[in-house]
Amino acid sequence: MLDIQILIVYLNVIYNVKIGGIMKIDKRKIAGLKRRRKNLVEKLVNLHAVMPGSLYKRFTECGNANCRCKKGQRHGPHYYIAVMMEGRQRQFYVPDHLSDKVKQWQDNYKHIQDLLHQIASINRELMRIGILDDE
Ligand SMILES: [Zn+2]
Repeated sequence: MLDIQILIVYLNVIYNVKIGGIMKIDKRKIAGLKRRRKNLVEKLVNLHAVMPGSLYKRFTECGNANCRCKKGQRHGPHYYIAVMMEGRQRQFYVPDHLSDKVKQWQDNYKHIQDLLHQIASINRELMRIGILDDE
């Protein structure tokens, strides 16, 4: 009987040391993941300056049947962006004076997407450990 009690205490000691060890590693890992996530979140700036889609230039014909464009002298080239919306590609006219800004905003859109993907990846790691926030 005494031997069994000693064995139970001994097993508890082993079990607690092991659990304690795992928890210590997880705490350090969780802190690291949260630090990385915080750094990424701080890089999320200029959230208004986003423009998805690809920018391109093209010549066009207008609706006027008597216009020079109908005789081969088409208008442009002008900038457009092509955007996938609900599975269909749509095109939007970009005024010439905004084309540089649109390029910057496209870069920013990709940058923000990349940051969000990295944050989501960290969140999946935290979820695997069993937490997301500070619960
Ligand atoms: Zn025309």
